[in-house]
Amino acid sequence: MINWQENLAYNIQQTKPSGIRRFFDIASTMDDVISLGIGEPDFITPWSIRESCVYGLERGYTAYTSNKGLLELREAITQMFARDFNINYDPNTEIIITVGVSEAVDIAMRSILNPGDEILIPEPCYVSYAACATLAGAKPIAVPTKSENEFKVTAEDLEQHITPKTKALLIGYPNNPTGTILEYDELLAIANFAKKHNLIVISDEIYGDLTYGDKKHICFSSLPDMKDYSIILNGFSKAYAMTGWRLGYALAPKPVIDAMNKIHQYTMICAPITAQIAGLEAIRNGQKHMKKMVAEYDRRRRLIYEGFTSMGLKCFEPKGAFYIFPNISNTSLTSEEFAEQLLLKQHVAVVPGTAFGQCGEGFIRASYATSVDNISEALKRIQKFLNTL
Ligand code: PLP
Repeated sequence: MINWQENLAYNIQQTKPSGIRRFFDIASTMDDVISLGIGEPDFITPWSIRESCVYGLERGYTAYTSNKGLLELREAITQMFARDFNINYDPNTEIIITVGVSEAVDIAMRSILNPGDEILIPEPCYVSYAACATLAGAKPIAVPTKSENEFKVTAEDLEQHITPKTKALLIGYPNNPTGTILEYDELLAIANFAKKHNLIVISDEIYGDLTYGDKKHICFSSLPDMKDYSIILNGFSKAYAMTGWRLGYALAPKPVIDAMNKIHQYTMICAPITAQIAGLEAIRNGQKHMKKMVAEYDRRRRLIYEGFTSMGLKCFEPKGAFYIFPNISNTSLTSEEFAEQLLLKQHVAVVPGTAFGQCGEGFIRASYATSVDNISEALKRIQKFLNTL
């Protein structure tokens, strides 16, 4: 008999399961749950994007593409970056199409990290970063950020965790779970820190198109000299409501794209051609649909921000993504207790802030990627829950 537990690979044994799942498992056993726990758009992919895939299938596009993805798609993406951020990437050598940003995070880390290398990961952050670093055999170093600074990472926070083994830094903005964006001066300080210590910066910008108000997203590699330091990750899941299509991409200097492509060709071969055809339509003609969805998220964002604030749960105004991160510490419950009791008593699902790092204690993540009616009802129920405490 094989003892499977003992025979699992060391890196897998070191990797913790995601803290989000437990709440979904409880919620799935209950009726009448309003979920503010979800991290994906409630919209269906716009029809013209779906239709392009249907036509592609009709024309018989069912084969593998080149490993790095359809050249036309790579060209469309690099042209978009030149137009929007004034950065030029070579579509032949400096971009790879991946199976979601999830794959891009994994193969970016595996391409640059050796066992023992350290990668700085500001928290709270998306759940896969530390796990992928561990799976790559490297050491994720959590860099806690401060709520009074809207959880924006600063060069001072980062300096405290630098060691001779630090090789890279991963930033994600607009941020999941806080909804924080990073502005030019804040990014410049991070860029100077990376330069000073000669660090590779992996920048997950999957929510880049989802910014609100007058602040536009700034791509990290558009900062002075940063193209040479950066691996930019982005994708279609959030902006185009395409989570199930599994489509993302990475932009980076040629040696790292070649390295990522080595892993990708042996593990994926290529991203699905159906998704790539749809992605091409999204980039070429999908902007108007995306802007409509962004306007709707913005409406919901203002509603939920006002709702939490007026019931006495302090929060800063989220400027990007579709999450809000209210402070629940005045309830004297921990984040886990708050999320669990709210779910059991009022059937509203949120995610405890600690699922995204220890410094998320005292906070919950609520997603507003759900209808205005759902948000209004959830807010009423949360108020009722607070009244019982
Ligand atoms: N990065 C962040 C910050 C996310 O929130 C998510 C999904 O929730 C992903 C990456 C994964 O996205 P994809 O669907 O492109 O794999």
